[in-house]
Amino acid sequence: GEFVTANEGGRLPTTATGPYAQRFGGQLVLVTGAGSGIGRATAFAFAESGARVVAVDRDAESAARTAELARLVGAPEAWAEPVDVTDEAAMEKLAEKVAAEYGVVDVLVNNAGIGISGSFFDTTPEDWKKVLDVNLWGVIHGCRLFGKQMAERGQGGHIVNIASAAAYQPSKALPAYSTSKAAVLMLSECLRAELAGQGIGVSAICPGFVNTNITTTARFTGVDAEEQARRQKRTARLYGLRNYPPEKVASAILRAVVRNEAVAPVTPEARGAHLMSRFVPGA
Ligand code: NAD
Repeated sequence: GEFVTANEGGRLPTTATGPYAQRFGGQLVLVTGAGSGIGRATAFAFAESGARVVAVDRDAESAARTAELARLVGAPEAWAEPVDVTDEAAMEKLAEKVAAEYGVVDVLVNNAGIGISGSFFDTTPEDWKKVLDVNLWGVIHGCRLFGKQMAERGQGGHIVNIASAAAYQPSKALPAYSTSKAAVLMLSECLRAELAGQGIGVSAICPGFVNTNITTTARFTGVDAEEQARRQKRTARLYGLRNYPPEKVASAILRAVVRNEAVAPVTPEARGAHLMSRFVPGA
């Protein structure tokens, strides 16, 4: 068969015959930021597990491509919805449309995110607003609108929020991003406590460094292409993380839903940092 990946080129580890074969058959899964990287790989993984998929991205073309490929890898139905998660009115419209035309979402993956790097004092108020708008408000809108529909239906469901190892790993280079992700982690834990009695799970996924467009844009690293390539090489050398693929994050997302994990650190260094963050000296 045809192999597709988030970056279109390599091979997709298939869930069609794996542990999650048809595990999500008949379920409706909505992924934001589904046009690229982790979001696209997640849309594919759920598609391969038999889910119907709604691919949301502010980039209409890449959302359409994800939906097309999702059908190719096994989604009985897949739709593209070109929506900006920061736009509250557009998100409300989306929630209404999805409920009316596709049904109540069984699994919501709030994945859309951006990063802007710079020291604390180099990060402008506009930078802070942009990052918090997408990374925090986008997640809030998704949880409020689709979480409410899940709760009202009363048949359970699952919300997955993509945080980051940056949520518990202070950085001098990514203050706005790290702050937004720490907020997403806490939001997820609060909502998990609130929805536990209703059979709705909430998971925060905390990936370390993953090979996607986000980590190759200068806005994220704040350095030119040459310096960026040098740093990526160094990161790979330090952590042995060469080419940590988004597909492995997607697998971790499906596992977190199946096992109802509260927090799922992904990549070796993210797991290490997570353990350290929970270790309180002298306690
Ligand atoms: P990516 O840039 O490849 O994909 C992000 C997608 O989100 C893009 O298709 C983009 O168009 C979309 N998007 C951005 N803003 C949007 C908005 N306002 N509305 C709708 N869609 C929007 O990046 P990725 O690495 O796949 O990132 C996905 C998530 O994973 C992000 O939340 C990111 O912070 C998180 N994450 C990534 C890494 C990593 O190393 N790549 C590590 C930890 C966490």
